[in-house]
Amino acid sequence: MERSSKKLNNNSSPEELNSLELNSIELDSGSGLDTLNHSSSHIMASAIKKLYPDAKFAIGPSIKNGFYYDFDLAITIAPEDLEKIETEMGKIIKNDFKFEKQIISKNEAKKIFKDNPYKIELINEIKDENVSIYTSGDFVDLCAGPHVESTGKVAAFKLLSIAGAYWRGDERNKMLTRIYGTAFYSREDLKNYLEKIERAKRSDHRNIGRDLGLFTFHDEAPGFPFFHPKGMIIQNAILDYWRKEHEKEGYFEIKTPVILSNDLWKTSGHWDNYKDNMYFVQIDECEYAIKPMNCPGAIIVYKSSQHSYREFPIRYAEMGLVHRHEKSGVLHGLFRVRNFTQDDAHIFCLESQLKDEIIRIMNLIDRMYKVFGFSDYHVEISTRPEKRIGSDEVWDKAESTLKDVVAGKNLSYRLNEGEGAFYGPKIDFHIKDCLERTWQCATIQLDFSMPEKFDIEYTGEDNQRHRPVMLHRVVLGSLERFIGILIENYSGNLPPWLAPVQVIVLPISEKFYEYSNSVYKMLKDQGYRAEIDNRVESLSKKIKQAELAKIPYMVIIGQNEEQAKTVTVRKKSGQDLKNIKIKDFTDLLDDTIKNKKINP
Ligand SMILES: [Zn+2]
Ligand SMILES: [Zn+2]
Repeated sequence: MERSSKKLNNNSSPEELNSLELNSIELDSGSGLDTLNHSSSHIMASAIKKLYPDAKFAIGPSIKNGFYYDFDLAITIAPEDLEKIETEMGKIIKNDFKFEKQIISKNEAKKIFKDNPYKIELINEIKDENVSIYTSGDFVDLCAGPHVESTGKVAAFKLLSIAGAYWRGDERNKMLTRIYGTAFYSREDLKNYLEKIERAKRSDHRNIGRDLGLFTFHDEAPGFPFFHPKGMIIQNAILDYWRKEHEKEGYFEIKTPVILSNDLWKTSGHWDNYKDNMYFVQIDECEYAIKPMNCPGAIIVYKSSQHSYREFPIRYAEMGLVHRHEKSGVLHGLFRVRNFTQDDAHIFCLESQLKDEIIRIMNLIDRMYKVFGFSDYHVEISTRPEKRIGSDEVWDKAESTLKDVVAGKNLSYRLNEGEGAFYGPKIDFHIKDCLERTWQCATIQLDFSMPEKFDIEYTGEDNQRHRPVMLHRVVLGSLERFIGILIENYSGNLPPWLAPVQVIVLPISEKFYEYSNSVYKMLKDQGYRAEIDNRVESLSKKIKQAELAKIPYMVIIGQNEEQAKTVTVRKKSGQDLKNIKIKDFTDLLDDTIKNKKINP
């Protein structure tokens, strides 16, 4: 299972590279927001010019989440100055100045911008005889447009941050001041956007993972996660579910070595196409590599015995631990690591079985995503990259098969020309989280090449030897990364079936320890992940801590509960079930956990 070279798939933060950063929630494109944001950069520059007449402006584009303007100013602008600039922008917006376009000669433009070396440099690079300038109020800027009709169209905006930026991104050039902002057509949209940024900050899986004791990272192994007991509970809950689903679908689980000889990687093509991302090791004077992918291992398992067409499709599933070298600068929590577990599978089948098999995988992906609460996803098809193995004829066949299947399921798809794996085209699934960020997780890759390279065969109906077709696929992608996505999607409030601690028993005081302990023991015996808080602390403090630990159910026990042999249950949602029978509570737990309900 390969990750394409251009996109950082499976083991990556991010298809949108900065989708995790603060200013990163994707704006709704196509709604003219980019034009509005670019226009806002003019308004901001105009306001800065009023406050700091010496400022010399460089460039002010719209970006994915807003806009910025770079400018040269002798004095330093501090975060508290942003408010002043915003006030000035407010006035310009209120005046509703038209953005007026004028086409002038380059010479005229050079006169207008004679004091601004940045604009002069830009004018000199323009090939046409004429350039366009835009005037709004008393502010003139060199710009190709387009803009909104007038400044009043900006209904809501916010300046977000200040940064340094080299002119043209070149560190040999002067460092300019950059101010970032974002603009919207309504106050409501701005409010939603700012809330999303706040939520993304609060949901950062690296902080939640540390605070809840799920996993940590250490200098002793940079980029290699350490999973703690509670993190392993989440992993194992996912694994149990994954195994059951795969068993139903007729997969057989295998496990292949992490270290395999270099010769194997030369045969598979990884040596030529993927060597820079691999780790190597010497054993008994022979060269080995630590596997970056599971495919060759699965092929060796296949090749260990003779196969007949009657066995097909053969589906080998493997939770395979792979290692890939990533530069230290791009590591990012569980999103970008140097080792991770792929929920991989390799399927060997007849060409005539391909379509049905791909549909089956797509149904499995759909089913599993819904259980995790991701019912919103889209599909992309990636075609032959420049660096590849296999003939064009084989690629033609493979690509049209994938397109046919997706079209047959009535799914629209985005086509990524040239972004397939080096051995075959692929279908990627991109899930959308509650912050509307997308994550590429599942991949189905078609492969006519590796069976050839490894010379694998089966006996056909005609009793002759034939070459099978191979599919590589993952559903979750990287187990570790998927856990990171889940944590951020739920801000750590995982559905009860995944929560490391499902129930915590909270005695109101020492008097009720005995009964509380018996309830706790009964819950443990019945297999629930329960804890008890027996510390001498106030109930309110215990509740607060249980909330911080994001435990879905609290069982509160005092006088009434002990006497009636009942419990009072507080759900994480804040809803209380007063004095209910223990059996009623465990029925509720069973229903929520067995049915994998999202909310307690
Ligand atoms: Zn593979
Ligand atoms: Zn402009």
